[in-house]
Amino acid sequence: TNVKAAEKTYQIATDITFAPFEFQDTSGEFVGIDMDLVAAIAKDQGFKYEIKPLGFNAAVQALESKQVDAVIAGMSITDERKIKFNFSDPYFDSGIIMAVSESNDDVSSYNDLKGKKVAVKTGTEGASFAESIKDKYGFSIVTFDDSANMYEDVKTGNSVAVFDDYPVLAYGIKQGNGLKSVTDKEAGASYGFAVSKGENAELLEMFNTGLANLKASGEYQKIMDKYLETGS
Ligand code: GLN
Repeated sequence: TNVKAAEKTYQIATDITFAPFEFQDTSGEFVGIDMDLVAAIAKDQGFKYEIKPLGFNAAVQALESKQVDAVIAGMSITDERKIKFNFSDPYFDSGIIMAVSESNDDVSSYNDLKGKKVAVKTGTEGASFAESIKDKYGFSIVTFDDSANMYEDVKTGNSVAVFDDYPVLAYGIKQGNGLKSVTDKEAGASYGFAVSKGENAELLEMFNTGLANLKASGEYQKIMDKYLETGS
């Protein structure tokens, strides 16, 4: 641990409802894969941090304006974001899928979206994907700040479908959130821990070293199993 890192309490921003990566347990504490990874890496590397659950887009903007030191929020490592941010080594592979309400038997492909509304989360890869195909399939987009409200909009029938990250939708569906997936997974980028370009290089280095250590010790796999194997 270097001197700078030992003195500092890093501010790390995250999403609010993005299970199994970050979500509140029954006592209101933030838990999930991202939360456990940061905790284990901080312990391994000896740094202090504070979690700021801001919501996804707000977290990314807070990082861009340097109000926080880092973001961990199931954040996809995209080329566009690499212009502003430095990412850690990837720690989870993702992708985008479309889901509809469990009771909806009318929408089973992008073609069925014509003239309908589709829910997305502001600033996400899912939103970009929906944006990229909306003219072709003739649907309009409704934006939300978090996944819970976005899923609710589909359940109440205002939107007919949602585009979100595969591991998150699959986890929610398995837990009975009232949605079902109806299309194949679209390619998406892997998740990484992000810092602003040129800032917190030592934090990024500690994250990468800690991640490699957790993978080698089997702790990384333990965290995955906790939320993905028995967690649903
Ligand atoms: N992986 C997606 C992205 O980075 C969504 C992240 C999120 O909603 N927390 O755009």
